[in-house]
Amino acid sequence: MLVKAYGYGIVEQNISGFYLRKTVDDHCPFLSKYLQGWACRLQRTKPLACKLWPFRIRGDPRFGREDEAYYKYGKHDFYVYAYPQCPGIVLGKPSTLFSQKVLPEFLNIRLGFQNKQIHSTSKLRPTPY
Ligand code: SF4
Repeated sequence: MLVKAYGYGIVEQNISGFYLRKTVDDHCPFLSKYLQGWACRLQRTKPLACKLWPFRIRGDPRFGREDEAYYKYGKHDFYVYAYPQCPGIVLGKPSTLFSQKVLPEFLNIRLGFQNKQIHSTSKLRPTPY
């Protein structure tokens, strides 16, 4: 979908798959300064990996710590891992908001039940492309 909208120059390929090509200043081409910070200009059309960032939601315990990563959601069994590279990750007991709103939203997006992010992204709303 991004290639269709922006052309092949927007992506690059390596052995693992296709990725958004970084700009010369090493940023995603859709990342823009917005108010005091940065925001994604794609929002609803973000790639799935971006919508799920900073989590990897898998059906198997590929990254270990099976008991800690396990999460039952309805009839689905998941293993939820966080990317340690994310500077916004706070380790510890999840908040009620995270457990009851944010994580279920990530899982619904992962399952394809939901597309729009409400609780799992910034409330900043830059003008989309
Ligand atoms: S969330 Fe948006 S700005 Fe961030 S990497 Fe994905 S497309 Fe780029």
